[in-house]
Amino acid sequence: MGWKSERQLLDLDPGLRIEFNCEPGGCGSAAKPTVEEVIRKFAARGVEEPQQLYLDEVEARLTCRNCRRRMVILNVDEDQAEAFQGGMP
Ligand SMILES: [Zn+2]
Repeated sequence: MGWKSERQLLDLDPGLRIEFNCEPGGCGSAAKPTVEEVIRKFAARGVEEPQQLYLDEVEARLTCRNCRRRMVILNVDEDQAEAFQGGMP
């Protein structure tokens, strides 16, 4: 639900970083690959048109390398773009 089900990878700038974390109660591992890296990773696994995956689908396909629990998307690092829109102090 929410923003994760409304955004596809292709909606995001390829250079943006997506913050993943092992699910609450897991081992606490985190990863911050770029959108482009995520697309490449799925393509390498044989996913067709990985750029069309919604963020919640990306989440559902990832497991933690350490403990094999679910990975959760915390945030997409768009802070810089938003800061520019806010203007100078
Ligand atoms: Zn983990």
